[in-house]
Amino acid sequence: MKILVAVKRVVDFNVKVRVKADQSGVDLANVKMSMNPFDEIAIEEAVRLKEAGIATEVVVISAGPTQCQETLRTALAIGADRAILAETDAELQPLAVAKILKAVCEKEQPQLLIMGKQAIDDDSNQTGQMAAALLGWPQATFASKLTVANGEATVIREVDGGLETIALTLPAVVTTDLRLNEPRYATLPNIMKAKKKPLDVQPVAAMGIDVAPRLKTLKVTEPPKRSGGIKVADVAALVAKLKNEAKVI
Ligand code: AMP
Repeated sequence: MKILVAVKRVVDFNVKVRVKADQSGVDLANVKMSMNPFDEIAIEEAVRLKEAGIATEVVVISAGPTQCQETLRTALAIGADRAILAETDAELQPLAVAKILKAVCEKEQPQLLIMGKQAIDDDSNQTGQMAAALLGWPQATFASKLTVANGEATVIREVDGGLETIALTLPAVVTTDLRLNEPRYATLPNIMKAKKKPLDVQPVAAMGIDVAPRLKTLKVTEPPKRSGGIKVADVAALVAKLKNEAKVI
């Protein structure tokens, strides 16, 4: 069984994001970029399925500029077998990525497409759902446990009221939630080995896909600054403030 894993290069989660002066977006100049954390979980899950003898090959794909090769090399160091870069400098919105994933799935014929539930830069939480819809495959989003046996995937999903268990026929799309697993660190020998693993660069322009943005960003602004807290003398003063100033009780 072949597994395809989608990984996105995003601003590292430790970076304090700055908005550009013209409010057109986030400043990416000299900013540390890393693999989207939910995608690390997706790779880890695929590699565990391979180690368990359930998967035979783990292929990773990233869509974006040349620098995404770094992200793909990290995925290869975690244990993926080969990588595909769908290369473009154009802005890619979730629908465009979903179309690219569909094209790659049609070519590669994986039994599972595992991806993050959301990218921490745009927080869209759309790409997996759109890819499943375009492919006509069943989907299990927010997976916290995945079992694959007899041509079927069983997924425990985190929903508002608790946990839901669903069965999907393969091929299917699974998106990862935080508690699915704890991703391993890539070891130095594996980072060295990853440099030799195949990485195929395919220009998006040659795929015949319309990746034009469907949404226009009007402006991006910083959240309002938080004002400092104060100390109140006693409970009566606190209650008075909550009632008269915050007007929450
Ligand atoms: P989003 O819908 O943007 O929140 O992203 C959800 C998931 O889709 C991510 O965790 C990735 O697995 C995948 N994804 C989004 N954008 C890309 C991209 N440019 N390249 C590869 N995978 C992506």
